[in-house]
Amino acid sequence: MSQIYPEPVTLFWFRRDLRIEDNAGLYYALRSGRPVVPIFIFDRHILDSLDDPEDRRVTFIHDILGLINKNLISKGSSIDVRYGLPEEIFPALLKEYPVTAVYTNHDYEPYAQQRDRKIANLLSASKIPLYTAKDQVIFEKGEVVKDDGKPYTVFTPYSKRWRAQLNDFYLKSYPVHKYLKQLAPMKERAIPSLKSMGFKEGEREFPGNEIPAQLIRDYARQRDFPGLDATTRLSLHLRFGTTSIRQLATQAKDLSEKFLNELIWRDFYQMILWHFPQVVGQSFKPEYDRIRWRNNEKEFEAWCVGNTGYPIVDAGMRELNETGFMHNRVRMITASFLTKHLLIDWRWGEAYFAKKLLDYELASNNGGWQWAAGTGCDAAPYFRIFNPYLQTKKFDPELTYIRKWVPELEELTYAKPIVEHEYARQRCLETYKNALNK
Ligand code: FAD
Repeated sequence: MSQIYPEPVTLFWFRRDLRIEDNAGLYYALRSGRPVVPIFIFDRHILDSLDDPEDRRVTFIHDILGLINKNLISKGSSIDVRYGLPEEIFPALLKEYPVTAVYTNHDYEPYAQQRDRKIANLLSASKIPLYTAKDQVIFEKGEVVKDDGKPYTVFTPYSKRWRAQLNDFYLKSYPVHKYLKQLAPMKERAIPSLKSMGFKEGEREFPGNEIPAQLIRDYARQRDFPGLDATTRLSLHLRFGTTSIRQLATQAKDLSEKFLNELIWRDFYQMILWHFPQVVGQSFKPEYDRIRWRNNEKEFEAWCVGNTGYPIVDAGMRELNETGFMHNRVRMITASFLTKHLLIDWRWGEAYFAKKLLDYELASNNGGWQWAAGTGCDAAPYFRIFNPYLQTKKFDPELTYIRKWVPELEELTYAKPIVEHEYARQRCLETYKNALNK
């Protein structure tokens, strides 16, 4: 194919950072001196693993790219969006643009790292550097470590060091708007349609990303009650970068310690994934992989559809199936119930959440599941088993949340408990003890 672009350019590769303002990698690309061509790849390695053709996350990304493109078109540029395998797309891009450098932001997942190494090698064969920047977290990799340089594996001391190291430098926004004249002048380009990639439009109704300050002020008091609409629902936006973590953490620092703490959990799990990629597929504490899970498929199915006869568990699973979201307190309860009451492998639950959550994100999902199963780096001790009835009494005392999702609660048609609580608790204690005492 003949070259379509007349002068040397820098490429900026969007991934999980789908915004223009305060985007670190885009800022560095624009400051590099060459005209910048923004690109995005609908990665077939990822899309092929999704089995729902109406996967709403693909619709979300597609919508956001449309907005980004509109914005870029108003500045005389455009985004070049491709569909395929990155290792095949890049050689094609190099034929169409005289590329002098590629910029992108860090991604800490094992697949992403492997992909980026592949692309870096491919580019380096043409003497093109791949420059990468930290963008999606406040502190990454080895930035917050113990005195001996080793990574933290317990949250509280990590969070103390994180807070001690925080200063304005880490929260400063990247003023991309000042450099937008560096965007390469481009003709308007179309984004491949969802249909052309084998998808259909999924239901929209995505949570917004404007958060009232009052919600954050009330956060510590209200966050644990799933019947209140009292958390930010920013997880989807943080996942895809439609909200800047620096701007959010700045707000959090001024308004709510507790809210900031949750953002630190997010950094913590990304850091854990980076240092211990084996957590994908394995228990952080290897001895926990000796647990003999019951893995009863019928019980798993009842859990998935929200038919266990435990109202708080069923409410959570139905919320997840219907909306793609589940409140954090209920994520903990449903995950604990699956692993401890039913003794089903945490990896089954992790995979189900990965399929259903709009905000699915490997590091936090794996961290959350291993925490609930007791197998994780900073998990609750295994003998602390959530009692779904006490959790309900404490966090949904008026049954507001439960009645919303389990309207047949008082009817005879509602399922009987799949297992008796005290029996399940004892069975769990024995099973874990047997595995760990070997
Ligand atoms: P808010 O309470 O408003 O918190 C603000 C932000 O802080 C969240 O958007 C999220 O980015 C971060 N955050 C809050 N709590 C946690 C936490 N415990 N760990 C890490 N980050 C946190 N979060 C995901 O983003 N993706 C997942 O796939 C995911 N899977 C989970 C699975 C299990 C079993 C558990 C127990 C938790 C999981 N979480 C996950 C963490 C948490 O439940 C969600 O981030 C939160 O419920 C999202 O709602 P929100 O945006 O209203 O949160």
